[in-house]
Amino acid sequence: MSNVLVLVDHSAGTVRKTTAELLTIARRLGEPVAVFIGDGVSEALPALGQYGATKVIALSSPELTQYLVAPKAEALQQIAAKVEPSAILISSNAEGKEIAARLAVKLDSGLITDAVDVQAGDGGPVTTQSVFAGNFTVQAKVTHGTPIITVKPNAATPEAAQTSPEVEEFDVTISDAAKTARITDSKPRAATGRPELTEAAIIVSGGRGTGGDFGPIEAFADSLGAAVGASRAAVDSGWYPHAYQVGQTGKTVSPQLYVAAGISGAIQHRAGMQTSKTIVAVNKDPEAPIFELVDFGVVGDLHKVLPTATEEVTKRKS
Ligand code: FAD
Repeated sequence: MSNVLVLVDHSAGTVRKTTAELLTIARRLGEPVAVFIGDGVSEALPALGQYGATKVIALSSPELTQYLVAPKAEALQQIAAKVEPSAILISSNAEGKEIAARLAVKLDSGLITDAVDVQAGDGGPVTTQSVFAGNFTVQAKVTHGTPIITVKPNAATPEAAQTSPEVEEFDVTISDAAKTARITDSKPRAATGRPELTEAAIIVSGGRGTGGDFGPIEAFADSLGAAVGASRAAVDSGWYPHAYQVGQTGKTVSPQLYVAAGISGAIQHRAGMQTSKTIVAVNKDPEAPIFELVDFGVVGDLHKVLPTATEEVTKRKS
């Protein structure tokens, strides 16, 4: 069986859910080999085994994390030369996409970004992408070199496989050219205590209809143990940080429950949330386009509806 490389997305050894999704997809295509860059491989090992990594290639050289993405692309190039994978899967985040693009040039290979599904096909993986703000779905495959695919969060439901992967330390040689941009400082985003937006089972999002007051959104989210999202109108108004924007130019989410409050339902917003399992909208305009999409709709002022809902949820929990 051919090897499929999966670049592990982690924070100090805590493996992100997207990696479990990539490993699940990799098992459809061949034997998943996880590439772990940085410190914390032993902490990550149980999660990587749980989702079926047959082997973990570990790279702990400080040069890989002291500089921007270029050394990571070089490392993957050197691993690919040794392992000769049939595909390389990387998370579709800003860093993942830049690594993938650099790697595609180095390996003279085709690159597909933002896949929302990947299946085994004749002659290589077949990807599905949602394009033009979700108006079209296209299927594509790489026809030259090693397929390099970046995969969006929630493209697969993680399926446990329970393996005991062996760990192989890999010595990488980083060129001077890859060390031209060094990280001088990094600040973690302030902890909110809420789940990560792309991994949350429940998301409560606010739009222009909040009028800038995200208090009712956050309170309702906290009563449900949910993440908070925002429309671009809210982000552009400076009411909520861009990291929480849902949509075409924000994050793509697919939670069990998505609550859109004071959001009209523009196509660019839908592009980031329309695959949510259950969608609820609170909007004071009964003609708002979001109501075409929802499973449950509440016509009303979010500043009244959400506090009532929060109170009810809190009451039922106690
Ligand atoms: P509005 O469209 O102004 O809607 C506000 C809604 O709140 C209205 O329906 C109104 O009835 C309701 N409302 C007002 N007051 C209340 C109240 N008190 N209680 C309840 N309801 C109330 N948008 C995104 O969200 N994400 C993206 O990633 C994104 N990317 C874009 C990319 C491009 C290239 C472009 C051109 C646009 C993009 N947009 C994106 C912007 C998008 O087109 C919309 O402008 C935006 O989604 C509107 O945000 P909104 O629904 O919060 O605001």
